[in-house]
Amino acid sequence: MRSIRKMNTRPERALRHALRSAGVRHRTYADLPGTPDIIVPASKVAVFVHGCFWHACPKHYRPAKTRTEYWLPKIARNKARDARNARALRRLGWAVLTIWECQALEAPDAAAARVARAAQRRAARNS
Ligand SMILES: [Zn+2]
Repeated sequence: MRSIRKMNTRPERALRHALRSAGVRHRTYADLPGTPDIIVPASKVAVFVHGCFWHACPKHYRPAKTRTEYWLPKIARNKARDARNARALRRLGWAVLTIWECQALEAPDAAAARVARAAQRRAARNS
């Protein structure tokens, strides 16, 4: 069973706000593998805003101390699914970026700049 993902979470809103300020034309909610949170359609950049706990951010993730037999496989499955979705997107010609929840909240402008750079690189390559 798939867990239901929340749409338009606080880190997503923070990143979208920063993207608007940076003038990056983007959309939310794409009908693509893994349902990326934000896409830049013009340059085919797909962005996932991932929760630090559920997707095991390198900075914040600490293995749960209780019910590890439940959490460890669950988070491992999330990571495996993330990798599968990224591969499927790349096969379709998309660049895939992961922005961690903490980055979107603490440094939304820097996160938006990463998205903008990826979009520019793609635009340069495809022109
Ligand atoms: Zn984090």
